[in-house]
Amino acid sequence: MANKKNFKPANNIQDLQYFGEFGGVNPSISDSSTYTFLSAKTMFDTFEGNADGCYLYSRHSTPSNLYLGEALAAMEGTETANVAASGMGAITPTLLQFCEAGDHIVSSRTIYGGTYAFLKNFAPRLNIQTSFVDITKLDVVEAAITPDTKVLFCECVSNPLLEIADIEGLAKIAKKHDIPLLVDNTFSPLSISPAKLGADVVMHSLTKFINGASDTMGGVVCGSQELIDTLRNVNDGACMLLGASMDSLRAASILKNLRTLHIRMQQHSKNGLFLAQKFEANGLRTVYPGLASHPGHELMKKQMNQQYGFGGMLTIDAGSLDKANELMELMQERNLGYLAVSLGFYKTLFSAPGSSTSSEIPEDEQVEMGLTDGLIRFSIGLDADIERTYAMMRECMIEVGVL
Ligand SMILES: *Cc1c(COP(=O)(O)O)cnc(C)c1O
Repeated sequence: MANKKNFKPANNIQDLQYFGEFGGVNPSISDSSTYTFLSAKTMFDTFEGNADGCYLYSRHSTPSNLYLGEALAAMEGTETANVAASGMGAITPTLLQFCEAGDHIVSSRTIYGGTYAFLKNFAPRLNIQTSFVDITKLDVVEAAITPDTKVLFCECVSNPLLEIADIEGLAKIAKKHDIPLLVDNTFSPLSISPAKLGADVVMHSLTKFINGASDTMGGVVCGSQELIDTLRNVNDGACMLLGASMDSLRAASILKNLRTLHIRMQQHSKNGLFLAQKFEANGLRTVYPGLASHPGHELMKKQMNQQYGFGGMLTIDAGSLDKANELMELMQERNLGYLAVSLGFYKTLFSAPGSSTSSEIPEDEQVEMGLTDGLIRFSIGLDADIERTYAMMRECMIEVGVL
């Protein structure tokens, strides 16, 4: 992929030049829900989607949202992007835009609990059926495609099991069957550039690493101008009509945080790799894409942008839910992190996905995909002294009998 070689996502963000209307170094925040038109004719054209550069109404777009969208499109190397009020507010309208009643989706079975619940429980009400497959087996993925399939969906690094999807391989299959490959890149921003590997649409929950402050929700869909125009269409665009639009104030704050993402990802990755290596050496069952023992390690190395590392997410198996809970409570008591869902914070966050974020997945299916009761998912923080953190975590593990 000659294309990917020269692709520098953090530079692309850095190189954007946005001035505020008074020459401010940050763009001004648009504090309006609606916009005036100088002529009635322009208002008509804008409704028809033909008046570039004119704003209509904030559910459609705002200057602040467009700034953030363009920065995220630059990061992913797509033509443009549309921001949304949450990750789910980007993912569900996009999936729906591609499908009608009677259509079919092929999805990885290890995906975010909310996306799984949407495809499994909600989409069938619209007569959209999903086949859930082991995304690491390309032959299985291809065999699940039917003449009704309209979307191939996966996460680059899956939640919570950290499986690595072969984006180039999946893109080839999608192309062969003339369907789009939609990917959720929430766990691996900057580290993986899926559009450069052949994905058609790249989505994120901005709530996680990209904003990184755990103070807001947000989402984005990055893709072609044609797709984004379709999603925003006033007559049949799912983003416009389902209404999960981002507020301008939030778009402005997320844009400011996006600019330090490359530094944060490097620190999350450095700390994640350090702890994963230590935990594994201590004999804990540890899953981290940066470990040679991870089945997707070589693939990850091949498709990642090396300088951002293997990311901040890892899992260990504490043996049982009771042990996992005991350990998490003790670590929180010792201020090693918070027992909380979500990820990408400065502080380490941990949770037991089987009983929380993936509880939407029925128990027998959890077992089949390797989601054990004692699994603890860590989002490793930006700790300045990770050796001290490790020493303190190890003490907790010894005290509760996990080590
Ligand atoms: C959190 C998350 C989402 C959903 O995003 P929200 O901002 O919570 O709506 C989707 N995919 C992944 C991988 C996530 O971690």
